[in-house]
Amino acid sequence: VVYLDNNATTALAPEALDAMLPYLSGLYANPSSAYGPAATAKKGVAEARAAVAALLGCSPAEIVFTSGATESNHAAILGALSAASGKRHLITSQVEHPSVLLMCRHLERLGMEVSYLPVDSEGRLDLATLPSAIRPDTALISLLWANNETGAIFPIPEAAAIARSRGVLFHTDATQAMGKIPMDLRQVPVDLLSCSAHKIHGPKGVGALYVRKGLTLPPLFHGHQERGRRGGTENVPAIVGFGVAARLHDELEREMRRLAALRDRLERGILAFMPCAQVHAQDTPRLPNTSNIGFATLDGEELLHRLEQAGVLASAGAACAAGGHEPSHVLTAMGLSKTSVLASLRFSLGRYSRAEDVDHLLRVLPSILLKLMDVPEIIAR
Ligand code: PMP
Repeated sequence: VVYLDNNATTALAPEALDAMLPYLSGLYANPSSAYGPAATAKKGVAEARAAVAALLGCSPAEIVFTSGATESNHAAILGALSAASGKRHLITSQVEHPSVLLMCRHLERLGMEVSYLPVDSEGRLDLATLPSAIRPDTALISLLWANNETGAIFPIPEAAAIARSRGVLFHTDATQAMGKIPMDLRQVPVDLLSCSAHKIHGPKGVGALYVRKGLTLPPLFHGHQERGRRGGTENVPAIVGFGVAARLHDELEREMRRLAALRDRLERGILAFMPCAQVHAQDTPRLPNTSNIGFATLDGEELLHRLEQAGVLASAGAACAAGGHEPSHVLTAMGLSKTSVLASLRFSLGRYSRAEDVDHLLRVLPSILLKLMDVPEIIAR
């Protein structure tokens, strides 16, 4: 099959699997134990911490391993709120991942207040809306670095600088941005950042929270591990796999150019056949691997289904929302009609995507589109 759903999850890199296997068998010691084999596990975790820190451009001591970006997001939001006693207000955007939005809804039910910044029809955040949203009781600003559905990139360095100048903590969910765009946290004044291994060809169930040096937040899980910042015995095999996956992204600029060229080939091919198709967030800085395309008024679910029958796996919006049949809150926030939202599909490329994959899609898509448009193929051709 042709896998074009890398924003949902990625294939585990063989290099990561190989590095993990010994820790799933013989090297099972608890890294906190005092004997020799534990030192090997501890060293595995330390090397992974250095690799993840290198990809983010921060110091290893600023990395806390978690069970994934959902946990990291929750630890950041709840940590900021419990550190800032008395502050009851959060700022986020309308297009965040559900792990942030649903937590915000939960906190609203508990009496917190949340401001949701809007985006325009291109998925752009208007930075001018940020300063006026900040209140004396704002505990945290949390904004996506790159959108999982459209790939649109928010101006995080600038937003974080505004937060810093106003003395408000700043968190970014960089789950989709990590490993896809260059990142140097020494240059970007974010306080907290979430990321996840399974979006960069590492294993599922492991991620990290970057916590800027000098910042101490109450943890989500209390315990001695991760220097008291995240209790619970470390998932050593997964952490080791995360580290190896992070190290695979050392030629980022070259990979970005390769993916952008593939994405452009995909979009050009679709637009050549269906000029009324609409590439969402096209005029915004966006990830090189993500293409979210509106197929006029066609039924996206049906299109997806037929693509699968033709050997192509893509997605209608986010995997997390799939099954719920809810129209994407991201495209809705961009002002698209419900029909346009339901006619939109996301294609997301990864490390193992090749030109042949895009060409296969472009070969099978036209006849599927014609069938859905109810045009007899013989006439159209
Ligand atoms: N944030 C974003 C932007 C994501 O794309 C995802 C994964 N869909 C998450 C958070 C959640 O990550 P995890 O699966 O590691 O909990």
